[in-house]
Amino acid sequence: MTDPIINLATKRVRELTPYLSARRIGGRGHTFLNANEAPKSAAYLLNSTTLNRYPECQPPELIEAYANYANVPLENVLVSRGSDESIGLLVRTFCESGKDSILIVPPTYGMYKISADTAGVNTIEVPPVGNFAPDVDAIKALVEDASKSIKIIFLCSPNNPTGTILGRSTLEEILAFTKDKCLVVVDEAYIEFCPEYTCVPLLAKYRNLVVTRTLSKAFALAGIRCGFTLADEEIIKLMLKVIDPYPIADPVAQIACQALSKNGLILLKERINELNDRKARFIAGVKDLSIIKEVFADNANYILLRFTDGEKVFNEFVRRGIILRDFNTKPLLKDSVRITIGSEQEMEEVKNVLFELAKA
Ligand SMILES: *Cc1c(COP(=O)(O)O)cnc(C)c1O
Repeated sequence: MTDPIINLATKRVRELTPYLSARRIGGRGHTFLNANEAPKSAAYLLNSTTLNRYPECQPPELIEAYANYANVPLENVLVSRGSDESIGLLVRTFCESGKDSILIVPPTYGMYKISADTAGVNTIEVPPVGNFAPDVDAIKALVEDASKSIKIIFLCSPNNPTGTILGRSTLEEILAFTKDKCLVVVDEAYIEFCPEYTCVPLLAKYRNLVVTRTLSKAFALAGIRCGFTLADEEIIKLMLKVIDPYPIADPVAQIACQALSKNGLILLKERINELNDRKARFIAGVKDLSIIKEVFADNANYILLRFTDGEKVFNEFVRRGIILRDFNTKPLLKDSVRITIGSEQEMEEVKNVLFELAKA
């Protein structure tokens, strides 16, 4: 018999599979290149004199700092506990439980479906075409089918884990036929590594476009949980009805403001250049190894590699205390393993193991 406490939970929650984050999967090791984190943290100062007070729901200095950084008006910015919270807020604000759907293009980031599952919202998966591009015709047919009731399309650019960029004309095509029908959310968690591809300039032209951003990746602040939504003022206002009253802890706002200060942005630029350079050297060094069948797009701070035997490679790394992320069971990604670009030393270590495995 099921534990009566468990039976108290809703059926939906009892049947839920939670997100298997790198942190939850865990693994014993000394080198963790499985969560696309930055290899090291910067230093920050904290003022503790006002910690007795509740923080503002949307700390004004932080909203201003991010609006300046992203080059959008203040009223188009929302700050949340990571962009994961933004994804959840969007689903809960725009999708009716038991009725509406979201649409995703797998393989992609796992949280869109999990946020939908948690909210009792259906997920429609549309396989990509060509080089992991959205199937525009298939998506159009689904959006126009009222019985599907699609409220949000989640697209990720650069896509986690394939690194693929969403083409500007593809996005504009989708934005045009979804106008007044559903939101198109572009997840730009990794956009700082290839800023030329941002779709933020399109916000002024399409009211149904939403862009999510985060300080967790290029800003090297995954630990503070801070993300942003850039969207039409009315969309932001609706989300503010759903968000908790005090989501952003005061120390989080302080650290985020320092990261977005003039000096913080200089450090960001240096960190990105260094990482992109290390990524290029790593890929050039391993791409011709016999065990590597395919090198995916290298637009973010990770690289997805397809091996002759991905499961074996992943396990050989685990055996040596190096934890990567296995995508072997995901659609179209058989034998693929994602490697976060870490420190110089970590990449040297990964390269050495790959050479060793190629020789064996
Ligand atoms: C890491 C990641 C996120 C999560 O960002 P947080 O701001 O840390 O919640 C969102 N989207 C994608 C595609 C990611 O890889």
